[in-house]
Amino acid sequence: MIDRRAFLRVSALAGTALASGAALASGTPAWAGPRPADWSALGRGLGGRLIRPGDASYDSARKVFNTAFDGTRPAAVAYCRTAADVTECLAFARKYGVAVTSRSGGHSYAGWSTGPGLVVDVSPMNAVSYSGGRATVGAGARLVDVYSRLGAHGVSIPAGSCPTVGVAGLTLGGGIGVVSRKYGLTCDVLESARIVTADGRVVTCSATEHPDLYWASRGGGGGNFGVATSFTFRTHATRDVTVFFLHWPWKKAAAAVRAWQAWAPYAPDAMWSNLHLNHDPSLDVQIGGLYVGDRAGCERLLADLVRRVGSDPSSRWISPSSYGHAMMIMAGCSTMTVSQCHRPGSLPGQTSDGRLVRDAFSAKSHMAYAPLPAAGITALLGQVAASGRHSVLLDALGGAVGRIAPDGTAFPHRRALFSVQYYAHQAGGAAWTRATHAAMRPHFGDHAYVNYIDPELTGWRRQYYGANAERLARVKAAYDPDRLFRLPQGV
Ligand SMILES: Cc1cc2nc3c(=O)[nH]c(=O)nc-3n(C[C@H](O)[C@H](O)[C@H](O)COP(=O)(O)OP(=O)(O)OC[C@H]3O[C@@H](n4cnc5c(N)ncnc54)[C@H](O)[C@@H]3O)c2cc1C
Repeated sequence: MIDRRAFLRVSALAGTALASGAALASGTPAWAGPRPADWSALGRGLGGRLIRPGDASYDSARKVFNTAFDGTRPAAVAYCRTAADVTECLAFARKYGVAVTSRSGGHSYAGWSTGPGLVVDVSPMNAVSYSGGRATVGAGARLVDVYSRLGAHGVSIPAGSCPTVGVAGLTLGGGIGVVSRKYGLTCDVLESARIVTADGRVVTCSATEHPDLYWASRGGGGGNFGVATSFTFRTHATRDVTVFFLHWPWKKAAAAVRAWQAWAPYAPDAMWSNLHLNHDPSLDVQIGGLYVGDRAGCERLLADLVRRVGSDPSSRWISPSSYGHAMMIMAGCSTMTVSQCHRPGSLPGQTSDGRLVRDAFSAKSHMAYAPLPAAGITALLGQVAASGRHSVLLDALGGAVGRIAPDGTAFPHRRALFSVQYYAHQAGGAAWTRATHAAMRPHFGDHAYVNYIDPELTGWRRQYYGANAERLARVKAAYDPDRLFRLPQGV
């Protein structure tokens, strides 16, 4: 079984309800909410399943990846099989003033793919097809399935490492992954998206159709503009790669941070790496990554890194791998089948032999636009050394990610050198993530990645979107003027 900790070891790239559903608008009279018969009618009108409290599957259907949100009890979860199902759900939400929440893989750090109203889950729309250099991917597909089904055609898309993350949330917020420096963010290879807008229309957005919605769908964040039902991506051919993990003792941590941050964002595009500072349970420094090339080329680049650190790693694992197996290694699923690399169960997105477990964690993040100065490194290592079980994860950016203009897509952090996550594994870890984020703010400044969404962030609009915030607000006003889709940090 892998849990989030095991996953982290191998990759970094990680109301009030009315009786029958939460009111959408304040002031909506309780009597305007749906009656049980109305919910039943909705269920009958869907091609997919509507799961309500009392149904045998309800307890499983309502839970998202982070167990911290297990207390949330939606009025219903609609597993939508088609865009028409989504349109039905949105009409129901508008008619009865029910809050509506979109869900794909359920990995929102803030739990914002569940809520007390109607959860519109796109998991049944998970088909993956390939033709002529393009992949069409249902919005409910999990990354492990995207990799494996495209791999059968000898192609892939750059995406994240967690196998059960949904392609919708990942793409709409950007999508950082182990080949991003070579091939870009997931949103950078998005050619078009099919989206059900708040008024129930099914539109395709691309560079030529609804171009503003297309721009906003590349980094503007999930849950803001409509419910995506499928994506068309430009693919790249897969090839053998090299995967590596190097460890140093904690006393070399400062040297490793200094060396890594001067090396990783500037390495050739084919080299992606991350730095983990772990206290889980003991202190450890790991630099791991993936090189799109052969072992010899990888070793040459790593020799430069080791020289910069100034001491040999205490352990070193470097292995050539097929592209598909490398994605399974990075997913923490190297000893599993693709089917096992899912959550167990019979609901859409789950498999009967799934072996992945959910996790309880709290996380905060920064986007680093400049290397940490000496005082910043001291502060960071001091936070990691504090008691508890936690990790700091630095993921290299640059390369292809940095060659797009900050306003070229809604994802603004094109000039960032790396992302930084403060990740605590247990209940109680929130105090550590809060303290660490505060301690590092003077060094990293105020920049954050919307896919590491943080309900406590002040100035979140500017932090997630930079100068793109105003254009995003205009797109929101055009496509959802009545704010059917509401997030506490909605654009
Ligand atoms: C263990 C772990 C590993 C991660 N690894 C990476 C990584 O390698 N790279 C990276 O960039 N990020 C990573 N993330 C962050 C991840 O990209 C975000 O949490 C992402 O939003 C998750 O997408 P989802 O579909 O799984 O989540 P969900 O919780 O289902 O959705 C996230 C947001 O998008 C909205 N949404 C969902 N479906 C739709 C839809 N069909 N249409 C419109 N809006 C929708 C939701 O309402 C919610 O606001 C990781 C997160 C976790 C927990």
